[in-house]
Amino acid sequence: MPESFEAPAISVETVIIGGGPVGLFQIFELGLLGMRTALVDSLAQVGGQCTELYPDKPIYDIPALPVCGAQELIDRLLEQVKPFNASFHLGQEVTELKPLPEGKFHVATSAGTRFITGAVVIAAGVGSFQPRRLVLDGVDRFEGRSVHYRVKSAAEFHGQDLLICGGGDSALDWTVALCEHSRSLTLVHRRAEFRAAPATVARMRELVAAGKMQFVEGQVVALRSEHDKLRGAVIKANDGHTTLQVPADHIMAFYGLHPKLGPVAEWGLELEKKALKVNTANFETSVPGIFAIGDINTYPGKKKLILSGFHEAALAAFGIQHHLFPEKRQFLQYTTTSPIMQKRLGVGADSSASDAH
Ligand SMILES: Cc1cc2nc3c(=O)[nH]c(=O)nc-3n(C[C@H](O)[C@H](O)[C@H](O)COP(=O)(O)OP(=O)(O)OC[C@H]3O[C@@H](n4cnc5c(N)ncnc54)[C@H](O)[C@@H]3O)c2cc1C
Repeated sequence: MPESFEAPAISVETVIIGGGPVGLFQIFELGLLGMRTALVDSLAQVGGQCTELYPDKPIYDIPALPVCGAQELIDRLLEQVKPFNASFHLGQEVTELKPLPEGKFHVATSAGTRFITGAVVIAAGVGSFQPRRLVLDGVDRFEGRSVHYRVKSAAEFHGQDLLICGGGDSALDWTVALCEHSRSLTLVHRRAEFRAAPATVARMRELVAAGKMQFVEGQVVALRSEHDKLRGAVIKANDGHTTLQVPADHIMAFYGLHPKLGPVAEWGLELEKKALKVNTANFETSVPGIFAIGDINTYPGKKKLILSGFHEAALAAFGIQHHLFPEKRQFLQYTTTSPIMQKRLGVGADSSASDAH
């Protein structure tokens, strides 16, 4: 028996890196031309900046939608791409993109998922969103063991002393969810005002009033450990002089996310000011078979708008079709009149239309 099991690589025509609005629309444009896709995003959900940074804000410049909430736009895109059965691989960053001798690419993720693909679309926006880390001496010794930036399984924290840092939805949701199951729980936030849902904040205040947890207005300034095991933290209160020690087997810091170009910069593609240079005829990068659309690319006149990214996805789809099937004659078809496109969309009356690319 081999000591470690490596799952076989998934074979797919195109891998899309990034599930923001533009990566999602790429599924649609490739699907219309009969191509199958797998989409990978480092976040646990699709939507990119729309979902992560401004889900409740209205957008006013999407054609034919006078006003559309940012999360609503993502929900509508997901509905629109449904007929194409793309596979979604979320919560994993694409860390490796390597050309293979026969013109294909090997793509691998932080979760060990591997793909063999004929083309790659990088729709990585402003990069991978990374959690903002605690900046404290010696914190790296505990990260992943007792200092966490996301919660995978709540059960591992039951019966323990917990310290939660932050004032947004994640911090407050986990405070309320874990409080009753912990030995002790301290929430620390630098202000008395929270960005989380008011109902959750009210619940947290009830738990404090009932003596089930404590809230400290201040910030963590040091860790306390014993024999390489986290024991607690030192908090400096906002009055500027009080410090207090709190017990902590685990610290969860929810300070939000920040974008990082990350592995995209290491794939040997031509960059200009941290963006990928592309040919505007088909949005191919400096490496044939690798395309870049949306906020991640640059070209003369580039505007980082969702609308521009949608246009780029349409042209990239034709570029990818030509790359994968160079012998195929390309012509423009309308969804209103094309039986083959309607069949792919699941709306056509003519089920006999052939589904060649
Ligand atoms: C507050 C705000 C308001 C805005 N309002 C508007 C507006 O009104 N109209 C408008 O047109 N635009 C607006 N924008 C800009 C718009 O949101 C962006 O242009 C758009 O999100 C770009 O889409 P994208 O798909 O290219 O990238 P993103 O939305 O940035 O998505 C990229 C995705 O790629 C993922 N990713 C990156 N690297 C990797 C990797 N290595 N592996 C796996 N996944 C990876 C990221 O996690 C992310 O989910 C606004 C932006 C902000 C911040």
